[in-house]
Amino acid sequence: MAGTTGTRRRAPAKAASSKGRAKAASSKGRAKSASAGGAEEAAALDTRATGHEEPRTKRAAARKGDAQASAGAPEKKVVAHPPPKPDYPRYRVEPGQRLSLAKQDPGATEHYESKRDIKEDLATQRSRISDLQARLYAERRRSLLIVLQAMDTGGKDGTIRGVFAGVNPQGCVVTSFKQPSVDESDHDFLWRYHQRTPQRGMISIFNRSHYEDVLVVRVKKLIEEAAWRQRYHIINEWEHALSLSGVTVIKFFLHISRDEQKRRLESRLADPDKRWKFSVNDIREREHWDDYQQAFQDALSNTSAEHAPWYVVPSNVKWYRNLVIARTIADTLEAMDPRFPPAAEGLDDVTVPD
Ligand code: ATP
Ligand code: MG
Repeated sequence: MAGTTGTRRRAPAKAASSKGRAKAASSKGRAKSASAGGAEEAAALDTRATGHEEPRTKRAAARKGDAQASAGAPEKKVVAHPPPKPDYPRYRVEPGQRLSLAKQDPGATEHYESKRDIKEDLATQRSRISDLQARLYAERRRSLLIVLQAMDTGGKDGTIRGVFAGVNPQGCVVTSFKQPSVDESDHDFLWRYHQRTPQRGMISIFNRSHYEDVLVVRVKKLIEEAAWRQRYHIINEWEHALSLSGVTVIKFFLHISRDEQKRRLESRLADPDKRWKFSVNDIREREHWDDYQQAFQDALSNTSAEHAPWYVVPSNVKWYRNLVIARTIADTLEAMDPRFPPAAEGLDDVTVPD
């Protein structure tokens, strides 16, 4: 997997409600989605040349809208398989929902008790991602943007390692966003992120993202409240514009508890091989735990949309976090339904010369 840190290359491989679940189970929803999928739809949309062309008819336009919404809500789209089980839309923040992070258990693991219990399922999800990514890459019409946000030590790096092992590095770019450079600060806040959105056929992973510009800037009082508040709207519009250009956006908040962060920081201090990861800045940031929780809660409540949903992933237990994220990404890719392009005509008569 290719990766960058701002402009720096980064070594490879190091993101709800019960209401959503009820919706997912609705057979009515499934029937509606079924009629929106398939080759007929692909032909009607026919955006192969640029991916930007407007649908030719009102019906095609409506179907295009359906297709985009269903990619952002994977369980609402019927694919060849039954709906995902267990259904992780339970962790999705429904558009308009007022999220309470305090009510979300960061230690949840459903009925699973150990890493061994999920080993096979995780391998299946990884291979689904790998297979679907190959199709997305070959199709070169659409792309996927994955946003990872968390408190310090929340496990963004571990997620990338654990979920994307096995994905063709050519089709995937990771960008880690740090404090903006002078050049970046001299532009509008979205400038640096827009340059890293995925090209057609690609998956882009944002390790931290444009959400820092409504999180850290708020908690550390780097800009006025009116300025960060209006960014919710700007971000929503921007993500909507991306989705209309064929970029499916999904966003994961890796939810850990305050105690778990303490354990992780202590373990970084205690283990010589992990000490390099320890930053005294993490201790300073920890003092703002409650402010960050509030900032995350508000940001997620204000920016979860059908076309760009947030998932609050229980992340105290790393293997469960990886399973939830891998499955959600695989389901999202499957709902996008990427296809290998048709082969050139007349290949049956072609022989390869000696
Ligand atoms: P690691 O796992 O390596 O610690 P990290 O993402 O925490 O990864 P750091 O270099 O420790 O990386 O921290 C990056 C810092 O940059 C964070 O404190 C973050 O809040 C800050 N940052 C990111 N984006 C912005 C921004 N737009 N404005 C201000 N600060 C930012
Ligand atoms: Mg850090």
